[in-house]
Amino acid sequence: MKRLLLALLLTGLGQARPEPHVWKFPSTAREHSNWFFVVPRDMPPPPDRFAILRIGNRPCRIAPGRTPWRINVGDTRYWPILERAMQTWNMGVQPLGMTYLFLPADPEHPPDLTLKWFDPQLPRDKAAATWWSTGLDTARVLGISLDGSFRVPEGNMVQILAHELGHVLGLGESQQPGDLMYYRTPTQRLGPGDVRLSQRDFEALRWLYGQEYFTPIRSPRD
Ligand SMILES: [Zn+2]
Repeated sequence: MKRLLLALLLTGLGQARPEPHVWKFPSTAREHSNWFFVVPRDMPPPPDRFAILRIGNRPCRIAPGRTPWRINVGDTRYWPILERAMQTWNMGVQPLGMTYLFLPADPEHPPDLTLKWFDPQLPRDKAAATWWSTGLDTARVLGISLDGSFRVPEGNMVQILAHELGHVLGLGESQQPGDLMYYRTPTQRLGPGDVRLSQRDFEALRWLYGQEYFTPIRSPRD
């Protein structure tokens, strides 16, 4: 009864400065104590000097359940390179409990992406490029173009393609040599088995795929 009186009294005071929305909220101490707040999960930040693709304020990543992306090699001569590049990511994310990120397209699974090995649009000073179409809240991968000349050693080709697949996942350029996402292609000769994620690549991906609020990365067929 006392509590009711107090509420009436407060209502009376409230009318001096009418703020109607105030009364939508629980006003007794008991109800107050039942409120709970959603606290963002404690997540270490992405590694230093490692860019993440963002649209607006939100990082870009592929939505849960939308992987694997099916990749069409475009030219069967490059199949061993695509296989190694996909493997780099599929094996690299195993500790995260993620399943396959990339698999080959086949008659039952149409391609999300088809690689272009001889694209006249590829700038001459670039070994590869990932093309995007972006809007206010969309990020769509349009394609990956690569320099298909066989002057580049096979391992380096794997490295270059795996780097572009990293962009497809939402990772930007790293400023640190040794990362797969380092913005320059390594000058030393690589064997196909030499290409793997660095600890920093792994941590950037772990941070990105732990994000609940994101702009989804879409494939050309989404
Ligand atoms: Zn890049």
